[in-house]
Amino acid sequence: MSDIENKIIILPYSIGVRDLAEKLEASPIEVIKVLMANGVMASINQSVDFDTAAVVASELGFEPELEKIEEEKPKDVGEVPLWRKMIEDEDEADLELRPPVVTMLGHVDHGKTSLLDAIRETNVAGGEEGGITQGIGAYQVEHHGRKITFLDTPGHAAFTSMRARGAQGADIVVLVVAADDGVMPQTKEAANHAKAARVPIVVALNKMDLPSANPELVKKQLAEIELVPDEWEGDTMVVPVSATKKQGLDDLMEAILLIADNKEIKANPDGDVLGTVVEAELDRFRGVMATLLLQNGTIELGDTILAGKAHGRIKAMFDYRGNRIEKAGPSTPIAVMGLNDVPHAGDLFRVVESEKEARAIVDDIESGEETKSSVPKVSLEDLFERLQAGETQELRLIVKADVQGSLEPIVNSLKELGEKQKDVSILILHQETGNITESDVMLAAASEAIVIGFAVEADNAAKRLAEAEGVSVRQYTIIYRLIEDIERALKGMLEPELVEKTIGKANVLATFTVSKFKVAAGCRVIDGEIRRNGKIRVIRNNNEIFTGEIGSLKRGKDDVREVREGFECGIALKQFHDFKEGDLLECFVIEEKAF
Ligand code: GDP
Repeated sequence: MSDIENKIIILPYSIGVRDLAEKLEASPIEVIKVLMANGVMASINQSVDFDTAAVVASELGFEPELEKIEEEKPKDVGEVPLWRKMIEDEDEADLELRPPVVTMLGHVDHGKTSLLDAIRETNVAGGEEGGITQGIGAYQVEHHGRKITFLDTPGHAAFTSMRARGAQGADIVVLVVAADDGVMPQTKEAANHAKAARVPIVVALNKMDLPSANPELVKKQLAEIELVPDEWEGDTMVVPVSATKKQGLDDLMEAILLIADNKEIKANPDGDVLGTVVEAELDRFRGVMATLLLQNGTIELGDTILAGKAHGRIKAMFDYRGNRIEKAGPSTPIAVMGLNDVPHAGDLFRVVESEKEARAIVDDIESGEETKSSVPKVSLEDLFERLQAGETQELRLIVKADVQGSLEPIVNSLKELGEKQKDVSILILHQETGNITESDVMLAAASEAIVIGFAVEADNAAKRLAEAEGVSVRQYTIIYRLIEDIERALKGMLEPELVEKTIGKANVLATFTVSKFKVAAGCRVIDGEIRRNGKIRVIRNNNEIFTGEIGSLKRGKDDVREVREGFECGIALKQFHDFKEGDLLECFVIEEKAF
């Protein structure tokens, strides 16, 4: 070896053999030889981890150092939930630390339920069971005298919208990843949901008891989705656990409390009462039972609450064990009886002065004066108004494209467009090739984003959910049209996309002359409805022979606005009189494209 000092070489946590050889100014064969001498069989196209690469580097006279990874700052995305905004508005002096609220997310079968059960069994202090024996969807544990609240959201089989909203009610997300299976699609989605809700993530690397567990590989995969483990200088704590063997659970609690300390999770116990509905159901014997998570203030038996549109005086209140309680403070999950209706999971609740006030607020909500749906509708068309009103400063997008080759230029163009804007930023929450799926729409709903598809289809479940949640999905087949639309939307110049929507069909049964040049058709509506202000397509032998406006629509002698399926009517068109028996009339309206 030469007498000069070893050269420092910076290596990433994982590197391909070819790249390593290049960095070490050696031939790949040389590198492979050194690897073999150290018991590692790797081909030129395989990757080795930092530790292995470091051995090779040292042997070839370098001083290896692990590359410092600049972890991307958590994307500043997603509306801050109202309860968090409210706590931020409280006087700092009134704020006290409260237990962190934790939710578990992750791919199906990676062990969320098992882990929640294991934590509950190991940590919940045994108190006598009270009136409610089944779980209430949330529980608290104590670790070294400090409390942690776990949301035990039901329906773990699917990544349900409850989970999407669960992330918004939580302070910390435990992302459960099976060490034998690694990062899977729902792992990525869950990470996106947490980021969208600005909730910090700790990874529970579960199933470490399995011989097939491969923690190092999973850590690499995590790093690839911007969850760089702290041992690689990243910001993400990765805690190995086994739910079945009940191992590592204490470490997980430590990690959660560490994040809680860093974030200073606080609330004002004397402030206004505000919280989130965790779940609710109608019980045959007890009426409406709702599990609530209190985020601010202190709630007492007898208080009148308003949860979504449900309201009522609290007649009975229980803790998570089913014990009757009279009072509860921030971060406490409680079950309450007394609401007049079943609120939705994810609804906010608050304490109001009286039933009268509650009813007045509900009336307001219903007359549209107070529009606070849990999932506000966002569309490109209303973006500009929202920008102007200062309601938002960013356009959040989920971009799906047919192939990587089109995804990349689209994302780059969108980013460029975003950089050109002064007052608004464009944030791409998720980009992927493939059709638009339910989970894309779910992420969009939870984070007030718009789904953009390029040369892809939306599956039926995605369409249904988009309609139900009011998520705007726009599909394109030409890249510049897509970029142009976004640019126009930012400037408030986007024209709504109009589509024809068929709303009804009628058969012509007879024709009759109304006046000298006017012929009307006697019809039966066979599907949907015919509307006076709709337009008509006349179809004969499967050919469209005329399209135009309705001149008159009658039932008997009366002019009517609409005629439904099963009824007979007379239809005259403004510029067409040549009806024939057997013609099919299709009624359609022009509306803004919702999907
Ligand atoms: P979820 O869908 O994420 O809620 O997953 P579950 O908790 O239902 O677990 C899925 C399967 O993995 C079940 O068969 C569990 O018994 C198993 N499982 C969960 N945790 C562990 C673990 O730590 N070790 C092993 N070996 N199996 C586990």
